[in-house]
Amino acid sequence: MEEKNIKQGKLFVVTGPSGVGKGTILANFFKQDNKNLYYSVSMTTRAPRPNEKDGVNYLFVSKDEFRRAIEKDEFLEWTEYSGNFYGTNNKIVSDKLNNGINVILEIETKGAKKVMEKYKDAITIFISPPSVFELESRLRGRHTEDEKAIQKRLDEVERELSESSNYKYVIVNDELSEALKKFKAVYDFEVK
Ligand code: ADP
Ligand code: 5GP
Repeated sequence: MEEKNIKQGKLFVVTGPSGVGKGTILANFFKQDNKNLYYSVSMTTRAPRPNEKDGVNYLFVSKDEFRRAIEKDEFLEWTEYSGNFYGTNNKIVSDKLNNGINVILEIETKGAKKVMEKYKDAITIFISPPSVFELESRLRGRHTEDEKAIQKRLDEVERELSESSNYKYVIVNDELSEALKKFKAVYDFEVK
């Protein structure tokens, strides 16, 4: 029988505190380069924001549906963050990689750590803010969370920033166009 010899895709893990600009960088990156590349759509119990679409930004589910997915062992990793559950589908990620497609996970640091244990060769990128002051201002300026939710996210920042040295690349998102250039440079270098 003829054997299929497909080169394995590369797994990118993008993390960093809430409001740092992960989503903005990735949305811009995907506009430029989405060939042979898959953005992993996570499952979450968080309510959708007005601009978010089910199946595009997240799979928005109830807590019961999320629990059922845990029981069925569907997740590569899952975590509770800021009062909501988030998880990465295991089969979709491994199928894409096995078919030679590069995959980007945009996840928080506890999940990133679990993925790094399972995929030792994952390319890990930490997006850092120019300052905590600027991070808080972006989080507030996004107008997507109420004060309680903003505080919960800010409570995680110090711990998250202290973990940045565990990642292969750290990109400071000061000027967006510069951060995007750096992200693209890392991606191109790693997939070449
Ligand atoms: P995350 O996905 O990390 O939670 P977002 O991509 O939602 O963060 O960005 C948070 C807010 O900061 C958004 O309003 C976004 O437009 C803004 N933002 C992102 N990058 C920059 C930047 N380099 N300079 C100024 N504002 C930014
Ligand atoms: P948000 O509610 O702002 O969309 O996401 C909150 C945090 O959860 C962000 O840091 C985001 O990257 C992270 N996140 C999104 N999906 C997942 C996932 O599947 N697993 C984990 N561990 N974190 C996720």
